[in-house]
Amino acid sequence: MHTLLISDLHLAPERPQITSQFLEFIRGIAPQAQALYVLGDLFEYWAGDDDDDALGLQAAAALAGLAANGTRVFLMHGNRDVLMGGLLAQRCGATLLDDPLLINLHGAPTLLSHGDALCTGDADYQRFRAYARDPGNQTKFLAQPLAARREQMLGMRAQSEASKQQKSETIMDVTPAAVEDLLRRHGYPRLIHGHTHRPARHLHVVDGRSCERWVLNDWYERGGYLRCDAAGCTMHRL
Ligand code: MN
Repeated sequence: MHTLLISDLHLAPERPQITSQFLEFIRGIAPQAQALYVLGDLFEYWAGDDDDDALGLQAAAALAGLAANGTRVFLMHGNRDVLMGGLLAQRCGATLLDDPLLINLHGAPTLLSHGDALCTGDADYQRFRAYARDPGNQTKFLAQPLAARREQMLGMRAQSEASKQQKSETIMDVTPAAVEDLLRRHGYPRLIHGHTHRPARHLHVVDGRSCERWVLNDWYERGGYLRCDAAGCTMHRL
């Protein structure tokens, strides 16, 4: 019995090789797992569940096939696909998760998160995050025609890429104090997150308690996943 966790695939029409890698992973590796968690940024951007883009439909169909085959599929929002809704989840045969979420992962209390909330050094980003996650703002945004939404999302994406060039590496990483605070509030669990694209295993000692923190890899160049069972977690690249 094991569970797989992935994040930050950033599936996009301009990276077809990553989409192929994802589809191969779903067909070949994921079916042996009891559950698959996608911890955010499955898509490079998601303009709303009425988006009929071929890539979205293809990814959803693959996940639905996996779920039908007996692997439970869980989706968490990232910053790029914060507008994934109930309709998409249904199409994926998946359950949408809160962020953060504490689960029992093969006997180990484990906190799952996308990870962007932990980047508290980036005040501009945190302001945008609060705006983008506000239900009122989401309703207003989704009331616009799909084409207008897509256009705005591409604009925001370009803006975020440009602003990242101006920011230091430290600002864009998680803030250790925010990590420690989160671990403290949830009873010192193991933490698994993505977002920063800095795959690693960290050890945090919080109030004398030792907590493992796994950072998932992004799929920009090459896919990969975290495999967890009762013995612990291991990182694998495709
Ligand atoms: Mn992200």
